[in-house]
Amino acid sequence: MNADDTRRRLVLGNWKMNGSLAANGGLLADVRGGAAQAGAQCDIGVCVPFPYLAQAAALLDGGPVTWGAQDVSAQAQGAYTGEVAAGMLADFRCAWALAGHSERRTLHGETDELVAAKARAALAAGITPVVCVGETLQERESGATPAVIERQLAPVLALGRDAVARMVLAYEPVWAIGTGLTATPEQAQEVHAGIRKALARLGAPGVRVLYGGSVKAANAASLFAMPDIDGGLIGGASLAADEFLRIAAA
Ligand code: PEP
Repeated sequence: MNADDTRRRLVLGNWKMNGSLAANGGLLADVRGGAAQAGAQCDIGVCVPFPYLAQAAALLDGGPVTWGAQDVSAQAQGAYTGEVAAGMLADFRCAWALAGHSERRTLHGETDELVAAKARAALAAGITPVVCVGETLQERESGATPAVIERQLAPVLALGRDAVARMVLAYEPVWAIGTGLTATPEQAQEVHAGIRKALARLGAPGVRVLYGGSVKAANAASLFAMPDIDGGLIGGASLAADEFLRIAAA
């Protein structure tokens, strides 16, 4: 159980750049059906590629599974070719928008400040940003993890208590994403506890902090048993309904 029971658990899938119109229907139906059968033990959502938001909205509407996007522009509209504005995500009734996933930071050069601006844009459109932070292996091995997390969070926390209270944070060590390596529950808890302290200092201790990085049904229960881990951000394992639902059941 959480130390604070008011923090309802959340398990969020990140499909990354996977799926097809033909294949998604079965996966979405299976996740919806399985979640309905399991009852509302926790919040469940899926973050799908932009082109499939309409499909997710159509197939998940009215059920227990929410949906969202994997990124969002910091800009509201205009000459930003290739960007997708938060208002557009709201048109598809997205509940969530990831901001600052490590693949965006690494492959697209997203800065801490840009990530915070994206989170602010999502909030302005009524969408919950899921702000991702995490250190590389080199940073962990050099003992820099707390400083890296603090640096990444600084512009986000600077948005203020009222904004941060409406967000979800995700700790995703870069070395654990898609690698099969998972932080031990103790390693993850240590970082989550630091994040929780920062949130408490800001006056927003109830913000949910997810763990992500090679979470599977086999390791989910021990991670989610930690007092400051409020659920998971699930990449690869969210592409198989059975596995994803077993993680949610954990
Ligand atoms: C992710 O993409 O956010 C993630 C955690 O991926 P994986 O579960 O595949 O490591």
